[in-house]
Amino acid sequence: MLGRFFLFWACLASAALLGVWLDRYWPASHAVALGLAMVASFWVLFDSVRAKKFLNWLRLGGGAEGGSTTGVWGDITTRVRRMLRERERETLECQARLQDFLSALQVSPNGVMLLDGEARIEWCNQTSAAHFGLDLQRDLMQTIGNLVRDPGFAAYLAKGDFGTSLTMPGRENSPSRPVTLSVQLHPYGDGRKLLLSRDVTVLEQAEAMRRDFVANVSHEIRTPLTVLAGFVETLQSLRLEESERQQYLALMAQQADRMQTLVNDLLTLSKLEGSAPPGVNLQVAVPALMRQLETDALALSQVMGDADETDHQFVFDCAFDGFLAGTASELLSAMGNLVSNAVRYTPAGGHITVAAGQRADGCVVFSVADTGPGIAAEHLGRLTERFYRVDRSRSRETGGTGLGLAIVKHVAQRHGANLLIESTVGKGSVFSLVFPPQRVVPVVAASDAHTAK
Ligand code: ADP
Repeated sequence: MLGRFFLFWACLASAALLGVWLDRYWPASHAVALGLAMVASFWVLFDSVRAKKFLNWLRLGGGAEGGSTTGVWGDITTRVRRMLRERERETLECQARLQDFLSALQVSPNGVMLLDGEARIEWCNQTSAAHFGLDLQRDLMQTIGNLVRDPGFAAYLAKGDFGTSLTMPGRENSPSRPVTLSVQLHPYGDGRKLLLSRDVTVLEQAEAMRRDFVANVSHEIRTPLTVLAGFVETLQSLRLEESERQQYLALMAQQADRMQTLVNDLLTLSKLEGSAPPGVNLQVAVPALMRQLETDALALSQVMGDADETDHQFVFDCAFDGFLAGTASELLSAMGNLVSNAVRYTPAGGHITVAAGQRADGCVVFSVADTGPGIAAEHLGRLTERFYRVDRSRSRETGGTGLGLAIVKHVAQRHGANLLIESTVGKGSVFSLVFPPQRVVPVVAASDAHTAK
């Protein structure tokens, strides 16, 4: 500023000197005026050149080079440059923060979509695009109602009441692979909306399974309970012969047993689901397991037959003399279920072969083969579902709960094993549990095959 002040006075002094010099040719007043005019013109010209230089620099974006370096224009240039740098830094920071927000929204497991006042898509993450089948580039600024044609969604959008969520089919929904979305609009700002979407297929399926399960359990318990209540009423209201009374009591005991078996199976399943998988430090001797299975199978076959003799021809073949890493009670329960199914579904005189052996790849295979009725291919995939039965009446007649194979599947999963089912209608079935080498603790292999009847 001081420089500008001195320049101003220097110009005035120059004007005075010019006036003194011109005084020789013109009257004094004219000479001074002319001197002042010439100096003022010079001043304006000089300032304009510097202002032009400053404006040019500003127009080119106010870079590090250019602009004035001296005087008041130099100061202005420096300050403007500093302001521009500060603004640029702030803009970059804002951009980085916005990018962070968008990246966080992008990785969200839920769909996030921003709609403008006209319900046009301003931005959406990949999950949202997948949920509604949108193209992230092509569909930007398109109206959501034109792209998502589900009638339920259109009605939800039109109604304008966004207090609750809407459950609708996802874009990829098909009868074989259902996809269900829960979507909700949240108004914000100046007429804008946030559209959140969540894939609830698994939740919906779990809820449906829970409903089915409760309905099935209620049904399974209600049937024997109704029978029991009927007998109790009969015993209370009728005067019966002792033999009749004994007959009714035996039938009542049968129904009570059925309920007990069902409750036990339910408890086993819930224990299997609620506890940690068995570690590999617990070891179960396979030959001992086989002996226990044999005793149980012979007893069950005897109970099912009329006489003291067993009803079936058994072969127990233990070609693996080692151990399996796992829980004895669980393994016995799974293998016992397979053996008991073979006994219960194979008619009298049928053959049942129970075998345990090690394959060349190190896996131990436990298998139960029978010459029973076999199972049609369309049922095989559903056999391990809870309460799924091919032959409902045969299952009930023989004390089945419909939970046996569900228990087998759970135990197999917990031990890293696979349950394989092969069956031919009219010929019989083979149920196998294949344990991976990690679960196998070998001892010198010894054949322990013998036949029992
Ligand atoms: P359940 O208690 O009814 O036997 P499971 O879960 O053990 O229930 O078996 C499911 C269904 O699979 C049975 O109801 C039966 O129809 C069929 N099934 C199981 N094992 C055999 C088998 N060895 N032979 C024929 N059908 C079988």
